[in-house]
Amino acid sequence: MKRRTLYLILCLFALASCSPKGPYAVTNKYYSNKTKGFVKTIEKQLPDSLRDSTGMQIPSEWVGTVNFGIRKPNYVIIHFTAQDSVQQTLHTFTVTSTQTSAHYVIAKNGKVFHMVNDYLRANHAGLGKWGSVTDMNSCSIGIEIDNNGSEPFTDAQISSLLALLAQLKTTYNIPQANFIGHQDFAPKRKPDPGPFFPWKRLAQHGFGYWSDDILELAPDNFDYPIALRLIGYDTSDIKAAVVAFKQHFVQTDIGPQLTQLDLNVLYNVYQKY
Ligand SMILES: [Zn+2]
Repeated sequence: MKRRTLYLILCLFALASCSPKGPYAVTNKYYSNKTKGFVKTIEKQLPDSLRDSTGMQIPSEWVGTVNFGIRKPNYVIIHFTAQDSVQQTLHTFTVTSTQTSAHYVIAKNGKVFHMVNDYLRANHAGLGKWGSVTDMNSCSIGIEIDNNGSEPFTDAQISSLLALLAQLKTTYNIPQANFIGHQDFAPKRKPDPGPFFPWKRLAQHGFGYWSDDILELAPDNFDYPIALRLIGYDTSDIKAAVVAFKQHFVQTDIGPQLTQLDLNVLYNVYQKY
């Protein structure tokens, strides 16, 4: 009897794992219901309590235009997961307690998981500043690459990433300068995607910038904090900004000091922005 019960449990388990809906059927349903709930938000107008200078309600009248669309993402933020497997990351992004997510996750074998529609807001960038953008989650696509933070990225991952970036750049008309790393946006908090990330190769394909092969000497009066700020860095902590810049644009040395070579790279790169 006991053996039969065990057999039944094993059969049920096998059926569940072979279900056409897969192991994420419950979170897929949750996602679907949440997106349906956004329809109510989109249809909502301003609160009744808002009044204009004459005491009239704002708005006094609703007149629907016929010319409008959905707001589009204008930045792409690249991350590493700092986790040990893509399964671990999929789990992290499908439990509510973590409150984190990304639009895409790229596995080591190049497989791409899509987890949030591009037009929706994923919780990937958090607090930070790039230029005057502070709410990066509202205007960007977040791409997480399965990588523990101290290993090279795989060729399969970068090939898939380049295909995905080409699609995103064309679809949403994202400027070349707006492909950046999480550390660029949050230099005080984040180290990703780190010095192993092939920014040069991305720049060769039109995603982000990289310095020219031949560098001019940075002038003696070169104001490097202003150059960093013009690129987009938050320079309120100048050391953190320098390290973030070097992890992205120098990579061979990532210390907090600017060498003559670093200054030359910065002088070259900032003129592209
Ligand atoms: Zn990140």
